[in-house]
Amino acid sequence: MKERQTMQKQVIYDALCSLNHPTATEVYAAVHDSYPTVSRATVFRVLSGFAANGKALELRSSGQEMRYDYNTYAHYHARCTECGRLSDVTVNGFKEKNLLANACDEFTLQGVTLEFFGVCKFCQGKTC
Ligand SMILES: [Zn+2]
Ligand SMILES: [Zn+2]
Repeated sequence: MKERQTMQKQVIYDALCSLNHPTATEVYAAVHDSYPTVSRATVFRVLSGFAANGKALELRSSGQEMRYDYNTYAHYHARCTECGRLSDVTVNGFKEKNLLANACDEFTLQGVTLEFFGVCKFCQGKTC
């Protein structure tokens, strides 16, 4: 049983890494193709376990299904207004830490979800 759980976790992690900021539903769809025995509930549970253990990030966006990111390095996201792709971006001089430090007393902040938007390199026709 333990071995099977380890295998499932690995399969789910691999799917997470092969997709671009997927939702749990997208991870499930990818896993289900090769491993039909892995249930949807398992995928959701394992993904939130990854997030709790710092193995993945949960990307919350209001009004949208949560997305997961295997890249746990502090980084920002930009959504393309043309194709909807979510890309990793680094914005020079922009520090999440400062945002949290500047917070007021009325709310205990635990994090920030910040999404930039613009036009991605694919829609700009750049291949770099
Ligand atoms: Zn695009
Ligand atoms: Zn990312």
